[in-house]
Amino acid sequence: MKKDTLYSHYDVIIVGSGPAGLGAAFKLAENSKLSILLLEKKKISSGGLRNDCKQNYTYPVGFPYEHWGKEEADVLLKEVAGHLNPKIETKINIEKYAARAQKIGVDILCIDQAHVGTDKSSKLIGDLVDKLKALHVSVALNTEVKAIAKESKEITLEDNQIISFKHLVLAPGRADYDWLQEQMDTLGVSYSDNIVDIGVRIETKEENYPIVRDYYDPKILFPGKVRTFCTNSGCAHIVREKYKGYYSVNGHSLSRENERNNLVNFAMLKTIRLTEPVVSGQQFGKILGEMVMQLSGGSVIMQRVGDFRMGSRSKAESFNNDLYDFEPTLKSAVAGDLSLCMPAKILRDIWKALKMLDTIIPGVLHPSTIIYYPEIKTYSNKPEFIDQHFCVKEGYYIIGDGAGTSRGITGAWASGIRAALGILKRA
Ligand SMILES: Cc1cc2nc3c(=O)[nH]c(=O)nc-3n(C[C@H](O)[C@H](O)[C@H](O)COP(=O)(O)OP(=O)(O)OC[C@H]3O[C@@H](n4cnc5c(N)ncnc54)[C@H](O)[C@@H]3O)c2cc1C
Repeated sequence: MKKDTLYSHYDVIIVGSGPAGLGAAFKLAENSKLSILLLEKKKISSGGLRNDCKQNYTYPVGFPYEHWGKEEADVLLKEVAGHLNPKIETKINIEKYAARAQKIGVDILCIDQAHVGTDKSSKLIGDLVDKLKALHVSVALNTEVKAIAKESKEITLEDNQIISFKHLVLAPGRADYDWLQEQMDTLGVSYSDNIVDIGVRIETKEENYPIVRDYYDPKILFPGKVRTFCTNSGCAHIVREKYKGYYSVNGHSLSRENERNNLVNFAMLKTIRLTEPVVSGQQFGKILGEMVMQLSGGSVIMQRVGDFRMGSRSKAESFNNDLYDFEPTLKSAVAGDLSLCMPAKILRDIWKALKMLDTIIPGVLHPSTIIYYPEIKTYSNKPEFIDQHFCVKEGYYIIGDGAGTSRGITGAWASGIRAALGILKRA
């Protein structure tokens, strides 16, 4: 398909059409006459807006404390909702689970959530892009930004076209953390990268984790910086995502209109904050992912809880046994032994949290439950910002999950709004 011709200069160029980029584009387009170019290297924006698309509308979910207070987040969440029109899911019986949790030092957060579903999200994204075009934003999909010039305010595209700008907003997400690091090195922006979330994804039958019938994506916080994350049910599947040198598991589900498969999946993640001499959380995550690649022959590992408890590795037969009565949805996962590839501290804290979860919702640790590893969230190149609009140097803004200003769709969109407000102030 022939790409649209792009001008040689725009007032604002936004790199990345995930929620952070979209948030910035809408805010600018609706409040100024600035010429805006939104660039996306894929055919459609990727990440969570495309996959599953669960939106959390309660602070602090998705809003890192170091950047956000409740008051501002609440205002911006209303603005995000104005664009995404969420249908908030009902929650019932939370008090029952919360009382059990409280007794053992666990917190259950009560969050407003909406769920679009992987089958419906492309339409949502398509509609948003059409709205931006109607607001005179130039949107170039399938167009990768190769580099940012060091001295001049210019970017180079993959076809070597050079485009200049007054303001540049970088919103490349977390998968492209190394690209972002290269650009920050070029621009002379200091950053730290010392936090990473490492964990497992649990898959079980819905009857073993019935809380999902009452609360779509229960947010549960355990001691040891372990938390539940991204729960999927209804018609839920586990997927394997390719990162540079390894795979990470993830989960998603289809909208309610699809036939249920009666399975649930969710992540149990532990946040690791590294200190000197290890400085790169993303590198640490990559090394762990590469180790699993070695041990699984180039994939990810899965183990039944029954085998894990007995201290024995899962084998292909473990997935074909009368007690182990459901098939794993991620067919490419390899039966193996978690203890062989997970650092002890991470495994210990996550297993302890799982036992606590089994006390609150008895059944989740049924012998048939499958633990997949690794699920790695390499969030943050945390740039040094010079103001609260995520400006890193005059005319340059870095936002979204890749910059650690958010952890989810709604927070990423809000970061885009905040950067746009900075540009509008200077325009
Ligand atoms: C499979 C999956 C499921 C998820 N499910 C959920 C969920 O249900 N709910 C939730 O809140 N969060 C979810 N997340 C997390 C969510 O995706 C992120 O929090 C959110 O998308 C971050 O937004 P962002 O705009 O910062 O980055 P992204 O959404 O990752 O967008 C960045 C975009 O920039 C583009 N890009 C990168 N480099 C370049 C370049 N050089 N040139 C041009 N374009 C470039 C990328 O292709 C990408 O489309 C999920 C993530 C994944 C991977």
